[in-house]
Amino acid sequence: MEVKVLTKSDIFNPTEEHKLLRQMVREFVINEVEPQAMEYNEKEKFNVSLFRRLGELGLLGLTVRIEDGGAGMDTVASVIVHEELAASDPGFALAYLAHSILFVNNFYQNASNNLKNKYLAKVISGEYIGGMCMTEPDAGTDVLAMKTKAIKKGDYYYITGRKTYITNGAIDNNTLGDIFFVYAKTEDNKISSFIVEKGFKGFYLGQVLKHKLGMRSSITAELVFDNCEVPAENLVGNEGDSLIHMMKNLEIERLTLAAISVGIAGRALEIMIRYSNERKAFNKYIKDFGQIQRYIADSYAKYMAAKTYLYTTAANIDLNKPGHRIDTDAVKLFASTVAKEIADNAIQVLGGYGYFGEAIVERLWRDSKLIEIGGGTIEAHQKNITKDLTKFNIPIR
Ligand SMILES: Cc1cc2nc3c(=O)[nH]c(=O)nc-3n(C[C@H](O)[C@H](O)[C@H](O)COP(=O)(O)OP(=O)(O)OC[C@H]3O[C@@H](n4cnc5c(N)ncnc54)[C@H](O)[C@@H]3O)c2cc1C
Repeated sequence: MEVKVLTKSDIFNPTEEHKLLRQMVREFVINEVEPQAMEYNEKEKFNVSLFRRLGELGLLGLTVRIEDGGAGMDTVASVIVHEELAASDPGFALAYLAHSILFVNNFYQNASNNLKNKYLAKVISGEYIGGMCMTEPDAGTDVLAMKTKAIKKGDYYYITGRKTYITNGAIDNNTLGDIFFVYAKTEDNKISSFIVEKGFKGFYLGQVLKHKLGMRSSITAELVFDNCEVPAENLVGNEGDSLIHMMKNLEIERLTLAAISVGIAGRALEIMIRYSNERKAFNKYIKDFGQIQRYIADSYAKYMAAKTYLYTTAANIDLNKPGHRIDTDAVKLFASTVAKEIADNAIQVLGGYGYFGEAIVERLWRDSKLIEIGGGTIEAHQKNITKDLTKFNIPIR
């Protein structure tokens, strides 16, 4: 029997195309993302022109088929791009996720051809920057408690409600984002979704939420829908059938958030290894102290476990078919806590130097915390995983 030996590279770059994609994104990150990361995070500003470069590189419609103007790539490819961007600027990676996964992929999988003709080219090029509106001031984890309503009158739906914590909700402090995938309740309290553009009557920027702990190069905003007038043709799919694509999109969101965590973890690990080879105390390199070795070795083992789980989960996900809740929840649960722990270990290994911005690890530590909250809290993952394991006969071994 011939046994195929899988290397790490086979798992993390299953095809030549994946390998080339990773190389291309890594080069872009070194040359264009890294030089701006500290400045944009410090200023809590979103780098719009750099974001549009992602469109030029074909990354904004990564999962859209080639015949529809995209790059025609798969879930693993999306994970690669998120991981590589996050190793330098997790906030920028989060803005990418909000656009390419929460808007573009969700829209592409569920919208009619008519709607795609109207918007797809603009979001793939980056002319329009998109986001997704699910969370409300009184409905986060308990998302089905959302109160935003859409009522149909003639050729329009009228949406009333508030959405909060929306990534890409604004482009800068005063400018509303361009286009949103908005969930609202229609007749019988069923969930429907709509494409809402800046400029629609009754659609406003509430406030830009400042002083975020991390992810400061992405903008988070509150958005207001005051009897917002939306053409009926901007309904995505059929009225009342959006729960299923909301759940599916949450799975892909969790996977790509886990990819951001793995990017953070890998960068923090690199920094701590390098420093332990350079810094001396008591006439020894600090890598020679057992306690420092424990930080490095434990971090490496957990990083590899998270990354391997991430790529094996990604390889099994078809972007169009729901049904991987347990592993997308579990990989995000694991990768998010591991990334925070590894960033924390890195600060510890760097000592006082690690506490300051120049060393980067303090920013990675702050950025890592978001993934324990956004796209579902770690408690929500624990609840879902336990529910699925105890309800369905999921094979463990
Ligand atoms: C920076 C940032 C960006 C975001 N971007 C977006 C975006 O683009 N679009 C969007 O729609 N949303 C976005 N969110 C919202 C995010 O998804 C929510 O914050 C998240 O789902 C948690 O909801 P919540 O904040 O209302 O917390 P809550 O639901 O109020 O939870 C508070 C606490 O109670 C716990 N809890 C709640 N229910 C249970 C339960 N059943 N069992 C155990 N514990 C429970 C939670 O785990 C948490 O610890 C973003 C959030 C942040 C911080």
